[in-house]
Amino acid sequence: MALESIESSSRSAFRELGFTDDVLDFGEKTLAELKDRFAEIDAVAEINQARVLHAMQNAKVSEACLLGTTGYGYGDIGRETLEHVYAELFHTEDALVRPQITCGTHALALALMSNLRPGDELLSPVGKPYDTLEEVIGIRPSMGSLAEYGVTYRQVDLKPDGSFDTEGIRQAVNERTKLITIQRSKGYQTRPTLSCERIGELIRMIREVKSDVIVMVDNCYGEFVQTIEPSDVGADLVVGSLIKNPGGGLAPIGGYLAGKKTCIENAARRLTSPGLGKEVGASLSALPAFYQGLFLAPTVTASALKGAIFAANLYERLGFSCYPSASEPRFDIIQAVTLKTPECLCAFCEGIQSAAPVDAHVRPEPWDMPGYDAPVIMAAGAFVSGSSIELSADGPMKPPYNVYFQGGLTWPHAKIGILKTVQTLRDRGLIDRFRV
Ligand SMILES: *Cc1c(COP(=O)(O)O)cnc(C)c1O
Repeated sequence: MALESIESSSRSAFRELGFTDDVLDFGEKTLAELKDRFAEIDAVAEINQARVLHAMQNAKVSEACLLGTTGYGYGDIGRETLEHVYAELFHTEDALVRPQITCGTHALALALMSNLRPGDELLSPVGKPYDTLEEVIGIRPSMGSLAEYGVTYRQVDLKPDGSFDTEGIRQAVNERTKLITIQRSKGYQTRPTLSCERIGELIRMIREVKSDVIVMVDNCYGEFVQTIEPSDVGADLVVGSLIKNPGGGLAPIGGYLAGKKTCIENAARRLTSPGLGKEVGASLSALPAFYQGLFLAPTVTASALKGAIFAANLYERLGFSCYPSASEPRFDIIQAVTLKTPECLCAFCEGIQSAAPVDAHVRPEPWDMPGYDAPVIMAAGAFVSGSSIELSADGPMKPPYNVYFQGGLTWPHAKIGILKTVQTLRDRGLIDRFRV
């Protein structure tokens, strides 16, 4: 088909989704300037595809690995091989990759609760950790928290310019400091996301003060954004969720830990039981999705990354502030946009929802959520419930009306979703001109 004819079919396919020409032109003009950045992302995906393939081949993945086990799951070759694949990929001694790990928070809680003992201290040298960890640690009092078990917590914030508070960290490390937790992604804060290189610097600095401390990295949303992982720059333990980047959109549940043998053994014994450790845990029918999802994860992450960059470029042109900005380098897949009014925040989320493959016909509404001090509006029409590697957005209904947007299993879908947000704002008269 000639290019012109593709362009006109694309126009009519997009019009059927409710797009108008001014929005589509705005999108195409913005995209034309992103060619070089997208080429870089494709190059990273290619390297990561090779890494995944190499790990699968080194671990000798075979057809038998795709069959699951039931009951105790003794001698589950598929489970054992998958854990070998993750260890190869992260260049670690061992890994724990299980459907019994219910989510990212569970994976992180498992890592912390199994590697800390009463009397130990946990330190976060990069500010407040992800919201859901507050109750795990006991920053907010909670039944079963680390605090209840006599594990204390210290935190050193990043400096206002985003740099490490080297002096503060040196002072905070003491004889009880057993584990350092570093969150790679900014999560829902406005601090910068850390590159693996910066994580490496921080780890070197910490090891100068205390060489035998365990360094754990919360790797959520960071996997495959670069061509190395935190375990390549000195982390002892790397932890994440399979319904984010490394599950490639196919994993229906699960979490992973990759790291030092003793750290993984501690976690396995906590997940199952002392004496049983990694030896039990039936994989049921989860393995094909875990393997295939990991295989797709480099290109799925690349799609989500392109979507985030496209969104920042569109919204900056529309006069909104974006974090990271349109031109900044990226180390995770989250895009925050300051939408300034409740109307714009709702329109954005409704736009994302209307572009979903599932539940596109429902309208998201702001709602009170446990742990939040304002109603939250969420858009998600995902194949896997709550999956945020799929196109999704949410934001608290309070000034400055930030939306946090992430995911997109394919680049065309991420593109359609973001353009839908612009279309919705435009249709409601919330934006008046397109600055291209
Ligand atoms: C998503 C996320 C978590 C928690 O994962 P859940 O699967 O939502 O429990 C923890 N840390 C960061 C940085 C995350 O992005």
